[in-house]
Amino acid sequence: MVVNILILGDGAAGTIMANKLRFLTNREDAEITVIGNSKYHYFKPDGIHIPLGMKDYRESVKSPQFLFNYGINYLRDTVAGIDVENRNVSTLSGKSYTYDYLIIATGDRLVPEEIPGFESEASHFYSLEASLDLKRKLSEFKGGKILIGPSSIPYQCPPAPYEFTFQLDRYLRRRGIRDKAEIHYAFPLNRVFTMENVSNYVQKLFDEKGIIYHTLFNLESINGEKKSVTSLEGEDLGYDLLILVPPHKGQKVITESGLADDQGYIMVDRHHLNYGSYDNVFVIGDATDLPISKAGATAHFQAEYLAGRIASEISGFVAEELYDGSVACTTVTGDEKAFTLYFSYTRPPRAMFQSKLDYILKWTSADTYFSGMLRGVM
Ligand SMILES: Cc1cc2nc3c(=O)[nH]c(=O)nc-3n(C[C@H](O)[C@H](O)[C@H](O)COP(=O)(O)OP(=O)(O)OC[C@H]3O[C@@H](n4cnc5c(N)ncnc54)[C@H](O)[C@@H]3O)c2cc1C
Repeated sequence: MVVNILILGDGAAGTIMANKLRFLTNREDAEITVIGNSKYHYFKPDGIHIPLGMKDYRESVKSPQFLFNYGINYLRDTVAGIDVENRNVSTLSGKSYTYDYLIIATGDRLVPEEIPGFESEASHFYSLEASLDLKRKLSEFKGGKILIGPSSIPYQCPPAPYEFTFQLDRYLRRRGIRDKAEIHYAFPLNRVFTMENVSNYVQKLFDEKGIIYHTLFNLESINGEKKSVTSLEGEDLGYDLLILVPPHKGQKVITESGLADDQGYIMVDRHHLNYGSYDNVFVIGDATDLPISKAGATAHFQAEYLAGRIASEISGFVAEELYDGSVACTTVTGDEKAFTLYFSYTRPPRAMFQSKLDYILKWTSADTYFSGMLRGVM
């Protein structure tokens, strides 16, 4: 019997999952199909470099159909409904598919429209189009107050806003206008990052670089006329250039299919990644409601665990290994330095030292991603 595996989503999680599974299973035993609707596969971590003119965006995008290994069916379509009760997935083009295993890897979406004034006032670096627009705005920037921060939690890659802030500091210095600019960083928690010891490290670097930070700042509204933002806590911060991570939500189809509430993130078992009482429906990547980082690195570890598990089951073995929440993530700290954080559900990260070597790791990560990680060979 050929086992029919259906993967929804052609981003980081869906592509790594399909390629890893193909390596671990024979075509006679398992048919792997991916349904995805991305126009291009964009390496989002380059969003911290593209607006600053540090990378050519063409190095950060590839056609999705060329990223799947031989023996994977890739269907360009949009998932319109997921019926786990009846093992059925329907698409916008009017087709429907059944499955033995379903893996939901539809990521999340940006919802800037949920904050009045966001779209007319704020720039960001969370999509390729927005990064290119910000690049233009920054090239016209001559001085003034730049305010950066996430609008709300959760958002993809928690370190990205501070990474961008460090790179911006360097960019303004290289342009010789750092003394004409104030960089302000606002964060929703009572520190500058979610994890305490990383936060302490980042805060020390902010102090060294003259980056001013504001904590407990949960964005409520933007006043374009006054050029100020107000927090739920009642604080006002002014800006000349506003760079905010847009609010995020899971995909609409997830909520509409009854798999999640209005926030759109699917509740999964934290050690098995399955949905509810279904032992053949799994969720990986940003689509889950897990408290660990929404990151490609997280998706990579999850895909590795799940591909191994499904391949074992197909071979008739009982898979006993548990997913332990492992993540390894390299984050830029400016001046061509970075540090790499390793953590899991039970092991908090340690921010010990920054190095040039870690920066090189980050700088070359698009190549590593497209040639190794996505292909399932790492
Ligand atoms: C600025 C920035 C910097 C980042 N830096 C890092 C970093 O340094 N390290 C790191 O590990 N992570 C980083 N990330 C996060 C990382 O890119 C994401 O966590 C990762 O892409 C999540 O993978 P995913 O597959 O879950 O979601 P995605 O990659 O977003 O893929 C979801 C896919 O599902 C498809 N899809 C959605 N809905 C449907 C539908 N209805 N029908 C069909 N297809 C659908 C989409 O087209 C998309 O291709 C960064 C992100 C940003 C924005």
